[in-house]
Amino acid sequence: MSACERFEREGLAALDAGEALDPHFDDCAECRAARAAHARLAAALPRVGARYTPRGDWEARVLAAVARERPSRGRLVAWLAAALVAVAAAVLLFPRGAAELPVYGLSVSAGESPVRSGDTVQDAPVLGPGSALTVVLQPEGAVTGPVAVGAWALGPAGLRALAAAPEVAASGGARVRVEAGDPALVAGPITLVFAVAPAGAQPDAAAVQRALDTGTTDGWRLLRQPVVVRGP
Ligand SMILES: [Zn+2]
Repeated sequence: MSACERFEREGLAALDAGEALDPHFDDCAECRAARAAHARLAAALPRVGARYTPRGDWEARVLAAVARERPSRGRLVAWLAAALVAVAAAVLLFPRGAAELPVYGLSVSAGESPVRSGDTVQDAPVLGPGSALTVVLQPEGAVTGPVAVGAWALGPAGLRALAAAPEVAASGGARVRVEAGDPALVAGPITLVFAVAPAGAQPDAAAVQRALDTGTTDGWRLLRQPVVVRGP
């Protein structure tokens, strides 16, 4: 096998220097494959570094996987090693929560009828005795790792964790069924509060309260839904 290694010899340096690639790199199948592998790695590495605290041996595992795939690609491995150093530095600087989850949308339905969709608050849905609301949290972009969802009710007594257990889908979306009998609910106008965070980096109630006060979060998404709870 006489693989073309021009991408490793010239293409990587051109990309690093921000220069345009010459047409060979589109025409040559070997170089196209090497470019595609490089692009996949370049796209994946920042996500890995920013979203997770990596296993101690993750660099060795990635390097071994690359070596298995392309045994003669010495320059690609050298580039990858440099990229890993950069990612490791980023992980040290921004230990957790620095990655952005996509914006999330929230919709509420009572039974089968949608009550509200999007960000415009209309009339707050009413949660009467014996009824329930289903809240759906939908990412508006790709979610690249597992997420966890917390659910609270904000009433006169402050923030109280809902008993409702959010169901989180592999897509990063979530559904929460809020029952009128949930012990966290009190009669009157309240706000349901949801936090969508990378798994392992969920905010606790104090962090959610700070986010409500300051309007800023640390790498997670805060969603709110006013509702009116009717007493029995
Ligand atoms: Zn080539």
